[in-house]
Amino acid sequence: MGHRLLHWGPIVALTIIIVLYLFSLLTVFVWFPPDNAVGIFNLILLCVWLYLILKNFLKAAFLGPGHLPYQWKPENAEDVEFLQYCKPCQGYKAPRAHHCKKCKSCIMKMDHHCPWINNCVGHYNHKSFTLFLFFVVLGCFHAAMMMLFCVIDHLIWIRGRLLLEVNPSANIPMSHFIMFCLFFGIGLSLGVTIAVAILLFYQARNIFRNETGIESWIVEKATARNRYDGEVFVYPYDLGLTENISQVLTWSHDYVGDGITWPVFEGCGKYDLTVEQLEQKDIKRDRTIIYKVIKPYTGTWFPLKFGFRVFCDIPCSDEVRVPIEVGNVFHATRFKKYWVYGEKQEDFQKTKNKTFTLGQEHRLKGWIPRCCVEELVEDGITLIKKTS
Ligand SMILES: [Zn+2]
Ligand SMILES: [Zn+2]
Repeated sequence: MGHRLLHWGPIVALTIIIVLYLFSLLTVFVWFPPDNAVGIFNLILLCVWLYLILKNFLKAAFLGPGHLPYQWKPENAEDVEFLQYCKPCQGYKAPRAHHCKKCKSCIMKMDHHCPWINNCVGHYNHKSFTLFLFFVVLGCFHAAMMMLFCVIDHLIWIRGRLLLEVNPSANIPMSHFIMFCLFFGIGLSLGVTIAVAILLFYQARNIFRNETGIESWIVEKATARNRYDGEVFVYPYDLGLTENISQVLTWSHDYVGDGITWPVFEGCGKYDLTVEQLEQKDIKRDRTIIYKVIKPYTGTWFPLKFGFRVFCDIPCSDEVRVPIEVGNVFHATRFKKYWVYGEKQEDFQKTKNKTFTLGQEHRLKGWIPRCCVEELVEDGITLIKKTS
């Protein structure tokens, strides 16, 4: 279990939490000594925040999102036509489930893979993750306000006169070092408050709509794509605000339901969204551009040899960079000005008849610099160079 926390994400997150807690404790004992109501109130509140933050953080990390069983199939065999197949898991993806390359399995109601908890956010830990964000915002804001009060009290009301009036026994040392610590603490806690509040805003918006992060992308594409006349896309899991919230935030349980079957809006089918995903995948396949590799690329993250513009246009994501060799064929589905994302076909052909090793498949999909490839079009079986 400890392996979950031995990763830069949880280590940085826990360090920030502990550092800010120590700073606010220092603030309490120096400026708000707990020998009166204000001091005791602040101290108790800080302990409550720390308890709730750590409890929900550890729960989100260790409970995990819920993994779909390996080689999962729906109960009714005929339903497989409505579902996407997952090659690495050798099974079907249940409604709302997606494959996570980092966790190397299909995740129930996957929201996103969170490096800070070094785990996915999904069905089981959606509530604890959301509460973690909520209490981080409250706790950090409280700490920031306490430290800000100390600085303002010292700088504006001259050496804590206001505090002395409230509490004559307060001891107010204000060395340069303490001042520096307070400024550092204020910056850090305000920074964390703002960053996490933005995350919490999007998380809350998705919960109100009963969408996950991934589903909001699918819905966006579903509403934007061309349809037959009169056909309108209805998101099947939007059950109304109150019901949507109670799907994630309940008093008594960590989660509701089995993570595989989901209640849908009146008139919607249980596979409406998976069918939409399959259709979107078909459209994407039709838009695939086939390239032939003309320059090798080692898969390095910061390639300098292709020039300044390629270097400056590096994709801002931790997706894989695919090493390619001259003669490889590359199917691209996403495009930046100097980079393309897609799947290297050569290795796929080689590995097709071999047993698939979990986690290795993603080496084939990823980004390559655009200057390494040349466009081709399919003509029967052979690939010919496109003439424009
Ligand atoms: Zn999978
Ligand atoms: Zn994951």
